[in-house]
Amino acid sequence: MHRSPKHTLNNGVSIDQLGFGVYKVPAEDCADLVSTAIDIGYRTIDTAALYANEAGVGAAVNQAVAGGMPRDELFVTSKVWNTEQGYDSTLAAFDASMEQLGLDYLDMYLIHWPCPERGLFIPTYKALETLYREGRVRAIGVSNFEPEHLTQLLDVCEVVPAVNQVELHPWLAQTPLRALHAELGITTQAWSPLARGAILDDPILVALAAGHGRSVAQIVVRWHVQSGHLVIPKASSAQRVRENLSVFDFVLTDAEMGLIASMDNGRRSGSSPSAVN
Ligand code: NDP
Repeated sequence: MHRSPKHTLNNGVSIDQLGFGVYKVPAEDCADLVSTAIDIGYRTIDTAALYANEAGVGAAVNQAVAGGMPRDELFVTSKVWNTEQGYDSTLAAFDASMEQLGLDYLDMYLIHWPCPERGLFIPTYKALETLYREGRVRAIGVSNFEPEHLTQLLDVCEVVPAVNQVELHPWLAQTPLRALHAELGITTQAWSPLARGAILDDPILVALAAGHGRSVAQIVVRWHVQSGHLVIPKASSAQRVRENLSVFDFVLTDAEMGLIASMDNGRRSGSSPSAVN
């Protein structure tokens, strides 16, 4: 069984570097798919209120725990959706997510998007700090925050975000943002790490995959792992879920890492943070 290395967040909490994302996994398939992922070796699952599949994630986690896996081996992330931003509404959104998940505590809770035009990410984050202090969540952080949002937040927050989860893949390497995170002690987590599959036809990656006798997805996931950030690919079949975790028995050379770095062209597969409100 392949197992991800651990990464320690800025508050000492440990998370797998390579986790499993469940955006667009239909609610009715989610419990079985997450159980399959746990059987294969994943221990970190990324969901959100928006995905409408928290119940399936929680069911799979509770099933694993009922089968003897310690709860603290598993790590569940969820996120507060844009329309729920604000102090009181975030506390209520957290309760609603926990009800769906059916868990006693959450491992990490993130602000899904900064939504700068709403002007509410600071009171939203204050609610996350309350939940953190109450012990209802082990780590708090943000997602899709640009440098200006981080700066505004750090001016007033008491708990430095553990994570900023952002779109990141070889076409969008986020080099300046990652450097800022390193300076601030914030861990970078890559969403859409395969650019939602669009990058898998890129000829540079196709050639590297042929050279290693690996799939293109494995080359990309391996690039994420060697780049040192967290990564949460999503896949729908057991075969792909397994393939994406099976990246710890080969290494990309410095020259290959450099070649992949040359692919950075700013191409997004999702929305730009300033456009989401
Ligand atoms: P990914 O970059 O992980 O790509 C998923 C796509 O790639 C799917 O179409 C999948 O196909 C395909 N794929 C996966 N593995 C393979 C493989 N081995 N071979 C061929 N094709 C493969 O996209 P996501 O957008 O899902 O991002 C990952 C996770 O990041 C999400 O699930 C979510 O948890 C998080 N996320 C967070 C966001 C945020 O705003 N914070 C925004 C978007 C995502 P198939 O499913 O058919 O197997």
